[in-house]
Amino acid sequence: MKFDSHVERLLDVTVALVNLASPGEARGTAYAPPVGTDLVRAVADATSTPDRRSRPTAAQAGALLEVVPRARAVFEAAASDDLATAAGIVNDLLESTAARPRLDPDAEGRFQLHFHGPDDGYVRGWQAGLASGLAVALGSDLGGRLGVCSAPACDRVYVDGSKNGTRRFCSTQCQSRVKAAAHRARTR
Ligand SMILES: [Zn+2]
Repeated sequence: MKFDSHVERLLDVTVALVNLASPGEARGTAYAPPVGTDLVRAVADATSTPDRRSRPTAAQAGALLEVVPRARAVFEAAASDDLATAAGIVNDLLESTAARPRLDPDAEGRFQLHFHGPDDGYVRGWQAGLASGLAVALGSDLGGRLGVCSAPACDRVYVDGSKNGTRRFCSTQCQSRVKAAAHRARTR
């Protein structure tokens, strides 16, 4: 069970941006998103590849992050098996970002389905990409792979890429915290 590499990347970026810009709790402690240039740099990091560095302006980074609350709501709905709500939000996102599919060749000339906004600008392009990645996940039997960490004091989101689809935590850090707590409870 595997997403194609383009969709996988879109979902990875979505997870990174949602976890970056959602206040709450992360791996056992309170989390507040960075501000100012730190936030812009983190958005640039999330949308960069090793061979292509994104350089959004502060305005572009802020505009891209406008979709984060809705993207996060998709993970929350999917994690509680409310796929109808998740699908409704994704349909709204597809419409508001005017995402459209398009076949683009890769370096070897093989064609892959990519998703674009009405222009290929940074904000609309990424917003459309995020909406499309979530749509592909929910439209396949992989909708259940969108999760919210079930460790205490953590509300970070993740995509479960494990073979059997049994991931419950955002990170190995949260998995270890829960394991250690269970161990302490047993030995008390
Ligand atoms: Zn976690």
